[in-house]
Amino acid sequence: MTQKSSVAAKANPFEIAQAQLDKAAQKLGLDPAVHAVLREPLRELHVSLPVKMDDGTVKVFKGFRVQYNDARGPNKGGIRFHPEETIDTVRALAAWMTWKCAVVDIPLGGGKGGIICNPKEMSEAELERLSRAYIDQVGRILGPEKDIPAPDVYTTPQIMAWMMDEYSKITGYNAPGVITGKPLAVGGSEGRGDATARGGAYTVREAAKHLNIDLSKATVAIQGFGNAGQYAATLFSSLLGCKIVAVSDTKGGVYSEDGIDAEAIVRHKLINGSVIGFPGTRPISNEDLLELSVDVLVPAALESVITGENAERIRAKIICELANGPTTPEADEILYKNNVFVIPDFLANAGGVTVSYFEWVQNITNFYWDEEDIHAKLDKKMTKAFHDVLAMSLDYKVDMRTAAYMVSIQRVAEAMKLRGWV
Ligand code: GLU
Repeated sequence: MTQKSSVAAKANPFEIAQAQLDKAAQKLGLDPAVHAVLREPLRELHVSLPVKMDDGTVKVFKGFRVQYNDARGPNKGGIRFHPEETIDTVRALAAWMTWKCAVVDIPLGGGKGGIICNPKEMSEAELERLSRAYIDQVGRILGPEKDIPAPDVYTTPQIMAWMMDEYSKITGYNAPGVITGKPLAVGGSEGRGDATARGGAYTVREAAKHLNIDLSKATVAIQGFGNAGQYAATLFSSLLGCKIVAVSDTKGGVYSEDGIDAEAIVRHKLINGSVIGFPGTRPISNEDLLELSVDVLVPAALESVITGENAERIRAKIICELANGPTTPEADEILYKNNVFVIPDFLANAGGVTVSYFEWVQNITNFYWDEEDIHAKLDKKMTKAFHDVLAMSLDYKVDMRTAAYMVSIQRVAEAMKLRGWV
C-alpha cells in the first residue's frame, strides 16, 4: 500500500543515500574501489552520555559522530538533537555533507553528529550539561584540523558556544575553530544565521533564469519553519520578490493566496510557538502544502516527505530542498519525468556550510570579514556550484541530483586517488 511504501522509505535514509550514490556512480562508470570506499563512512564513534537532570536523577543519552570522508579536508557537519535520531540517519547526513562540501568546492570533508534526546522537554541547564557531556566524549576526535561540527536540527548558536567552551577547557587554549555557527561574540561569523536560506535563494534565482520564470510574479510554499524555513520566507520575498502563500511547522500550516507577510509570521511564530492562527490565512496540512500549485516549493523540515506516494501530485515548477533528504529516489524519478526542476538538498542548502567554512577560516586567521563580504563570497560559491551541476545535468541528460552527485564524486575521487587511497 502507498502509505506503507512511504513508511518503508523513511525507515532508512542511509540506504537512500547509498542508492543515490550508486545511480551516479553507474553514470560515471566509477572505479569499483572508489565506489566501495564512498558507500560507507570511514569512521564512527558511538557514545553514552550520563547527564544529571534537574530533578537529581541521572539520565543516559546515546550520541554519535560519523566521519564519512576526509579526503578533501577535515570532516565538517552539524550535530542534531532529535528524539528519533538513528545511526543510519547520521550516516546519511554525513554522506550528504561530504557531497555538499565538494559541490561548493570548499576544502572540507563530511561528518555529522547526533544525540537521541528531546530538547523541547529539557531545561536550559540540562541542555548545557548534555552539550558539554557530548564534547567530553566526542571531543577526542574533533578539532579545527580534524572535524568541525555546527548547528543542525534543534541545535543552536548557544549550544555551539557551550561546546566550543568545553573543547577549549579540555585542550587548554581558546579554540573557536573547533565548531561553527557560534554567536558573534565568541567567534561566530557575520551572515551565518541566514546562510542556508540565502544560499538557497541564490540557487533559485539561477534556476529561474534557466527556466525563464519571472520570480517577481512567483508564488512560494515553505514546509518547515525553523532556521531555514523562517529565513527562506523573509529572503525569498525580500531578495527575490516572490509571494509567500503557505508555510507550515510541526503543528500545522497556513495558506493565503493574497500572500503572507514574512516578517510578521516570523514574529507570530516567536510569540505563539507556531505559525497556526496567523491572521488573514486559512489552515492547511503539511501534506496538502506540498501539493499546492506554486512556482517554488521549499521543503525545509525533515527527511522523506516527498515520496513515491505523493510525488505524482506535486505541482511546483521548482523544488528548492533546504531540508536534508526530503525526497526519496522513487519520488525523484517521478519528478524528473514530470519536469519538476529539483535543486537537490546538498546543493540548495550548501549556503550554511559555506558560511561555516568562512567562519572557520576567520577563526584560524583571526581576521574577521563584514557581512557584505560574506554575502558576495557566498553568492559566488553558490552560483558557481549551481552552474557546475546544471552543466553536468545537461551534458549527461540526468536529473539535477544525479548531476550534483557526479560533480561531487569526481572531486572526492580525485582527492582520494591523489592521496593514494585507491
Ligand atoms: N547542519 C548544516 C548542514 O546540514 C550545516 C553544517 C555546517 O555548517 O557544518 O548543512
